[in-house]
Amino acid sequence: MRNNSEIKKSIDLGKYREIGLKLTPQRLAILEYLDGNTSHPSAEDIYRVVKRRFPTMSFATVYNTLEILRKRGLILELIIDPERKRYDPNIEPHHHIICIKCKRIVDVYMDFEVKIPDAHSHGFKVLGNHIEFYGLCNECRTERPPLRGKKDN
Ligand SMILES: [Zn+2]
Ligand SMILES: [Zn+2]
Repeated sequence: MRNNSEIKKSIDLGKYREIGLKLTPQRLAILEYLDGNTSHPSAEDIYRVVKRRFPTMSFATVYNTLEILRKRGLILELIIDPERKRYDPNIEPHHHIICIKCKRIVDVYMDFEVKIPDAHSHGFKVLGNHIEFYGLCNECRTERPPLRGKKDN
């Protein structure tokens, strides 16, 4: 069908219908962009991409949709990037590394046995953990340092 040519991939909408999310064309575009996306985009990133298809869409539409999804547990909000909130459609337990230079975030799939001794757990029963690593990604690490000029001294 010609009308559907805009929808590039078919995504499972069941979970969104279940929470009563009104599936407007703009929201569908947001959901499609998020589906399987491992780049941990910010609301601004999502807005920039989806706006190309829906030039009149407001940033609030993106942000509000993300908030609904977050509150319903369908996406995770990451606060690992100090500059902006980032979102992760992958809600399976995993950890993250952020590059402190280019702010790229990648997933780490590994179980870490981190035990909090009773004396430090404040009576909590620990159910899980989310570990944030920071460092330099491969590209930023191999980038040549700027040539030193005489100005430096
Ligand atoms: Zn980097
Ligand atoms: Zn992730």
